[in-house]
Amino acid sequence: MILVVAPHPPSGGGIFFIDFFLNLWNIYSMNNTITFTVKQAVEFIGGFSKPSKMPCHGFSIPARHCKTGAKLRNVKDSICSICYALKGRYVFKNVQNALDRRFAKLKDAMWVQAMTIAISGTESSGYFRWHDSGDIQDIDHLDRIVQVAKNLPQIKFWLPSREYSILSQWKKENGDFPDNLTTRLSALKIDGPAPTSIAKRLGLTTSGVSKEGFTCPAPDQGNKCLTCRACWDSSVSNINYKKH
Ligand code: SF4
Repeated sequence: MILVVAPHPPSGGGIFFIDFFLNLWNIYSMNNTITFTVKQAVEFIGGFSKPSKMPCHGFSIPARHCKTGAKLRNVKDSICSICYALKGRYVFKNVQNALDRRFAKLKDAMWVQAMTIAISGTESSGYFRWHDSGDIQDIDHLDRIVQVAKNLPQIKFWLPSREYSILSQWKKENGDFPDNLTTRLSALKIDGPAPTSIAKRLGLTTSGVSKEGFTCPAPDQGNKCLTCRACWDSSVSNINYKKH
């Protein structure tokens, strides 16, 4: 299964051009797969984010595309009304361009493979965070994230989300999420309750912005995770974060 997808066909005339694509097609047909180099894979998915607090890379898309978030943004006291991903450095043009680039590739047929190669080739921490900005778009998007987790059992993934109904639908259709994908249902309101009943029903964990239960220690340790990995730990049923 070794084939490098060149970003452009090689030069050298028509025969080379036809040969190149015949070889490409033959190998693709034989293996039913196309493999990227790590560099090509990272470029393909639009690159990673590197949240300064985290021990690992993340993958972010524009928060303005959040489905539930868009409805909550104008709701007083909702966590989305103070969304950190709609202010600060996230609104810089270069950051927005990077977010848009990643978003544009989400539906590509090669996304799962490229993401798998990109993470396995660059993430040495053993951890990965989905969506430090943005959220699951639909059931197909969630399914792709699950496929990546299944492809990389050596990596622990953390997926925070407010898309309860998409998660619920996926579980109904497919059963449990892989053990290496900790999915946390994020609370909707500041100082509101974590969505524990739906999380229990789905066998998932939660997070919120309140003072109850386990509290993220990052604000007391230079805004870094340091050795804490609670977000990725499915035995930590709820995590509270400080208001941004
Ligand atoms: S709870 Fe731990 S792992 Fe999660 S963000 Fe806070 S410090 Fe990092």
